[in-house]
Amino acid sequence: MPTFGAHAFIWVGDWTSETGGEAIAAAARAGVDLLEIPMLRPERFDAALTKAQLDEHGLGAICSLVLPREAHLPEHPEEALRFLRLALDQVEAVGATFLGGVLFAHLGYLTGVPPTPAERETCAEILREVARYAGDKGITLGLEPVNRYETYLFNTIADTLALIDAIGADNVTIHADTYHMNIEEPGFRGPIEAARGRLGCIHCSESDRGVPGQGNVHWDEVFEGLRAIAYEGPLVLESFAAINPDLAGATCMWRTPSYSSDELAREGMAFLRERAAAVGMA
Ligand code: MN
Repeated sequence: MPTFGAHAFIWVGDWTSETGGEAIAAAARAGVDLLEIPMLRPERFDAALTKAQLDEHGLGAICSLVLPREAHLPEHPEEALRFLRLALDQVEAVGATFLGGVLFAHLGYLTGVPPTPAERETCAEILREVARYAGDKGITLGLEPVNRYETYLFNTIADTLALIDAIGADNVTIHADTYHMNIEEPGFRGPIEAARGRLGCIHCSESDRGVPGQGNVHWDEVFEGLRAIAYEGPLVLESFAAINPDLAGATCMWRTPSYSSDELAREGMAFLRERAAAVGMA
């Protein structure tokens, strides 16, 4: 049976000791199993406080991040390695066992040319080190392919499966996202089936990053694919109703949404639960 989660940026625009507590309380109100915590500034993350707040609300957590510009992996491999190790220390400290997201790139950074073989090789080499460090802590990594406007490195599930093969560690998985898939993949079911046994997490995001079920994502195909591979990982509602200043530029979120954070969470989670149940997943 899959678990249901929600990204903290549905409710708060940044993760601080204060807003983190607000996001945890809101996620608990929304009745989700787990909260996705953005680990964008691991050096400032208060793991002990967050863990206590999660425990208080009986909420689980997964973590995700995108690399800062100065740690864009192909250009600054040593800095990326340092940053990812620090993030993993915090993931462990908060009691989570999954770190997903764009672990190889700074979001929104494009070179204007395709990735070179050397760049991809550097990604595999460093992420092999990171996977070893994560494995020692019992943490699984999820690599999230994102669309061509946000990165030039890994845009599709097939691309990212090739990266995972090159890394060669069994605690590295695909972190899929239906928003990006809607732009980059030829459909939904095929790519999800291609990730059979290696899908660690899926962001269930609508084509406009709004309320799932109200856009252009082919949800029937998504859930048929998930059922076909007997997916049991998290189904995470990711949207940015609260606009994070760091992500707004990279994700080009310029308009204020027409719905509130709680409406998005309520309607979105109800839709995902209903679709999961309809295919016999939950
Ligand atoms: Mn995502």
